[in-house]
Amino acid sequence: MRTNVYTSTIVHDGRRFIVNYLDGKVAELQEELYVLYEAKTPDEMADLHPQFYAAMVRDGFYVDDDFDEVKIAEEGIRQALASKETLRVIVNPTMDCNLRCWYCYESHTQGGIATPEVVGAIQT
Ligand code: SF4
Repeated sequence: MRTNVYTSTIVHDGRRFIVNYLDGKVAELQEELYVLYEAKTPDEMADLHPQFYAAMVRDGFYVDDDFDEVKIAEEGIRQALASKETLRVIVNPTMDCNLRCWYCYESHTQGGIATPEVVGAIQT
């Protein structure tokens, strides 16, 4: 077993979470368990804490070595894009996003904010 590549950890307001973005699962961990989760492999966790390991497998945080989550994610995106039941519209009101995600490819143009006229046109 290994950790799903779409799993990450988040610490917020002193609370520790693991998130499985593929299935939309979130688990809050107590600090001791969080430290173990970060330090140990799934196989080590199976020995150390079988109950936790079983929950991680059940919720897709741990997957079989040959599990192809990238293929599943790609298929989900393909289906969503091909769906006629959902219209997806993304409005980007600024080119000066301040989140600074590590993977971002935007140039963060300062002052690049939609004018009130543009916002009004979008709302109507
Ligand atoms: S990816 Fe870039 S534009 Fe998107 S939220 Fe992160 S920093 Fe902002």
